[in-house]
Amino acid sequence: MTGMADVLIAGGGIAGSTLAILLGRQGLTVEIFERGRFPKEKTCGEGLMPAGVAVLNRLGLGQAVGGAPFYGVRYHFGNQTAEGRFPRVAGLPIAGRGQRRKHLDQVLFQAAAATPGVKAHTGMAADAPFCENGRVAGLLVGGEPRRAALVVAADGVHSRMRHLLGLNKPQRRKRFGTRAHFRLGTGQTQPPWVDVFVCPGYELYVTPLPEKEVLVAGLTYAGALSEPIERAFHRWWRAQPVLAARLEGAEQVSSLMGTSPLAGNARAGVAPGIVLLGDAAGFLDPITGGGMTQALMTAELLAKYASRGLGNAKEWLWAFERDRQMLLQDYRVLTQMVLWLADHPRLAEWLLSVLRISPALFSHLVGVSGGVRRLLPFHASRESDLQALAERQ
Ligand SMILES: Cc1cc2nc3c(=O)[nH]c(=O)nc-3n(C[C@H](O)[C@H](O)[C@H](O)COP(=O)(O)OP(=O)(O)OC[C@H]3O[C@@H](n4cnc5c(N)ncnc54)[C@H](O)[C@@H]3O)c2cc1C
Repeated sequence: MTGMADVLIAGGGIAGSTLAILLGRQGLTVEIFERGRFPKEKTCGEGLMPAGVAVLNRLGLGQAVGGAPFYGVRYHFGNQTAEGRFPRVAGLPIAGRGQRRKHLDQVLFQAAAATPGVKAHTGMAADAPFCENGRVAGLLVGGEPRRAALVVAADGVHSRMRHLLGLNKPQRRKRFGTRAHFRLGTGQTQPPWVDVFVCPGYELYVTPLPEKEVLVAGLTYAGALSEPIERAFHRWWRAQPVLAARLEGAEQVSSLMGTSPLAGNARAGVAPGIVLLGDAAGFLDPITGGGMTQALMTAELLAKYASRGLGNAKEWLWAFERDRQMLLQDYRVLTQMVLWLADHPRLAEWLLSVLRISPALFSHLVGVSGGVRRLLPFHASRESDLQALAERQ
């Protein structure tokens, strides 16, 4: 590829790489800048919801990504446990997948780099967007201006591009997330569920991974930590008898990694000449585990709009933004509800006891977090997407 690209993308994570693949396949020229180098680690719960698995399958990358299947989410609260199984789609069972980010991100970035029309750089940060005539006209990379018809900021939850464009909206919640991987001992089994332990002051997420590995992630409020995080993390999982038994004899195979704040918010997800994508466009909290799926789904949505032509992008940018808000609306409402419940443990305990005796309702809510159900049943489902999901699993 020589000369000016059609699209410049800052950030080669899930959102950026997926978009690059799709635009390249549409015949557009794309240049993507990733500041890190692959394979690389990222703090994440590593549970990809069924709707995200469906996007990977549509990309033709489901097998290359692989992963351990999980059929729903099990909540543990004190002595209570409730299982929320993903609903069946077109009469067939569906599953999410647990996979190491180190692997998933590398597969996506390599697929982007191998797509005709895509020029992919690693170890190259985008410094800033630059504006001309009231619109973003390109990116500054290594002090050099690069121009394109459209710029996409897919640079994560703490997006530098969003800050520099004045699109950042300050956050009240200062949550902290941390994680480590364990390899189970020979006699230990790997249940096909994401297990969530709701505890006073923190939550633990346990995701099954291939090769008898599990990911344990802990979320808390940054201000609630009164001891070093390493000590708190190990105390947390040992305090849960079910989890402690599962990890008995397991070997910790990655060092503890953490990040804060977990949320990022944008005043607007688009501006003339630029689209914020994935976490950069706003992310509430990992508590409902949908961030990767949202990144994949919204990259697909943007690629559909881009196929209308980049020359007239100013005509569809806001329509894209409205569609994206609608696509993410249910996740957002559910995430707000779950965050609120995490702050109100007595109500959470009561609700869990209701869900235990209402498997259909629980399955519905887990289906919303899995991206395969609308929150309100009278909202139409995304039938064609769901059909493709059921056929390919
Ligand atoms: C503790 C925790 C647990 C989570 N658990 C889950 C879960 O179980 N399931 C789930 O679906 N989601 C989960 N998430 C959310 C998920 O990790 C994100 O939603 C997802 O990674 C978003 O993808 P992205 O491509 O938008 O951003 P990222 O994956 O963050 O990618 C952004 C990329 O941009 C690069 N970059 C940044 N700045 C620049 C720059 N200036 N120039 C060039 N490159 C740049 C970064 O190196 C990175 O590779 C969790 C998040 C946290 C913090």
